[in-house]
Amino acid sequence: MPLREFRCKQCGEKFEELVRNGTKVTCPQCQSEEVESLISSFGFKSSGRSSLAGGCTSCSGGHCSTCH
Ligand SMILES: [Zn+2]
Repeated sequence: MPLREFRCKQCGEKFEELVRNGTKVTCPQCQSEEVESLISSFGFKSSGRSSLAGGCTSCSGGHCSTCH
């Protein structure tokens, strides 16, 4: 279940919320529905690291000279 980070456009409150499909996210501070989702700092970026490093997932090194 994805834990997403949000920021309220009304009061600037930052909060995390478990989001399921169809769930309406409201600010815990002012109950506003005017919230924007921030890209979570954990999960997405760290898991995409190996593919960004050179497109190789079979080796953990930065260079793929041995497996290509
Ligand atoms: Zn708010």
